[in-house]
Amino acid sequence: MFARVYSGALAGVDAYRVEVEVDCCGGIGQINIVGLPGAAVKESQERVRSAIKSCDYLLPPAKKWVVNLAPADTRKEGPLYDMPIAAGLLASIGYIPAGNLSKIWMVGELSLNGAVRPVSGVLSMTICARESGAEGIIVPEDNGAEAALVDGIKVFPVSHLQEALNILQRPESGKVFYGTTKHRYKTMASNVVSDLDFGDVKGQTMAKTAMTMAAAGRHNMIMIGPPGSGKSMLAERLPGIMPPLEYEEAVELTKLYSVAKEVDKKNGLVVSRPFRAPHHSASIHGLVGGGVVPRPGEISLSHYGILFMDEFTEFPRTHIDSLRQPLETNRVTISRSMQTLTFPASFVLIAACNPCPCGFKNDSVQSCICTSGQAMRYWSKVSGPILDRIDMRVEVRRLAQNDLLVQPAPHERTKWMKERVFGAIARQKERNIFDGKFVYNANLKHRQIEKVCQLTADLKSELVNAAHKYAFSVRAYDRVIRMSRTIADLRGNENIDRVDLNQALSFRTMNFGF
Ligand SMILES: [Zn+2]
Repeated sequence: MFARVYSGALAGVDAYRVEVEVDCCGGIGQINIVGLPGAAVKESQERVRSAIKSCDYLLPPAKKWVVNLAPADTRKEGPLYDMPIAAGLLASIGYIPAGNLSKIWMVGELSLNGAVRPVSGVLSMTICARESGAEGIIVPEDNGAEAALVDGIKVFPVSHLQEALNILQRPESGKVFYGTTKHRYKTMASNVVSDLDFGDVKGQTMAKTAMTMAAAGRHNMIMIGPPGSGKSMLAERLPGIMPPLEYEEAVELTKLYSVAKEVDKKNGLVVSRPFRAPHHSASIHGLVGGGVVPRPGEISLSHYGILFMDEFTEFPRTHIDSLRQPLETNRVTISRSMQTLTFPASFVLIAACNPCPCGFKNDSVQSCICTSGQAMRYWSKVSGPILDRIDMRVEVRRLAQNDLLVQPAPHERTKWMKERVFGAIARQKERNIFDGKFVYNANLKHRQIEKVCQLTADLKSELVNAAHKYAFSVRAYDRVIRMSRTIADLRGNENIDRVDLNQALSFRTMNFGF
């Protein structure tokens, strides 16, 4: 007999439908899986046999099964087909009715005792199931909360294969899961409170000002200073002055985290703005994404949030250069032998590093022991095109003794900084709407800059002079204008004035010997 079960597969962050076809004929108890199965899928027959036995069913020894995963021209990876294969085998010999298999999708890994283990990408697969017209989807219990974010489809979370089989026989008996609605999300998001405050960081007024600019206009920044000057502390506090994620952003982010298997199984939804800080020893796949089963990397997991790269110059050159495309297009493309995948990656890059290999160039207390050759080699990893995409270079100096005793002023605390940032974002939201979509200052396209960032003739000629003096690229020229727009928004100015432009220029042209 023939049976068909519907399941899903991932292509990047989105899912497509996979039909698990099972045919049973006379033979010697073999299960053959075809349709480009990866190693984990090939091995599933052993798990499936044991799991079926644990539900007190016995596969007849004088039968042979062929399992086809269609479409047959895409590679199927991961153990998520265990549950649909088990259901297909049992339906093909008439042990369970095949009727409901056409309406209810299944995904889930099985353990030998029939327990159902979580898999990645369940949110995207549930969306795909709904769009394909399915009435329900059976998912592992631990993935229930994320699947239930999708409206218009019944989500049945199960912890054992037997429960799944019961649901296929009588769908009305299964418990249906309801997830976080848009309404509940608002309360959840407003409950996200960080105990990190910019007031904990003494001194560093300039760096804090730059942080408000990064948060308000989504500008990238590099902090340069000796070890222990507070660079990491500053970066960690940046999400605290950014607005909470919108519900739609949270769902999009959850899709990425679901593919990376990092979703919180209780809430099922990513509610806080990401702050990712990969170590410089991270692999290139870990940073930009990829691998045998393609997963989003740190840059995609920082989508809508912060990518903090401490010890920036310690990252391999290939890693640093791989940021070029995502910094420009807000997405990353991963080419593989059989397909090209794209993951979103709209993040604010906050890089930090020492000024030289020993860390004490320009330091007020310790003297630098590096030769000029060593210092040049140190900076050579950070290529021009990357620096070109970083709007702010900020010096974070060692604190003077006095700074340690003085409490930061109120406007250097998170509460006040946040207010300024929110004000600047509100101004952008009134102005930067193109084709119905809001664009942050840092992401304005060249055409859009001409519309919303007009400079007077005087300011334009000042900028042209500066561009000539510092050998700006066209990109850098535009970036200075975008940065000036953010400074004007923070100061409440309708038009960019000389102060705004000069401050933007001073951030870009600060010279650290590179
Ligand atoms: Zn040095």
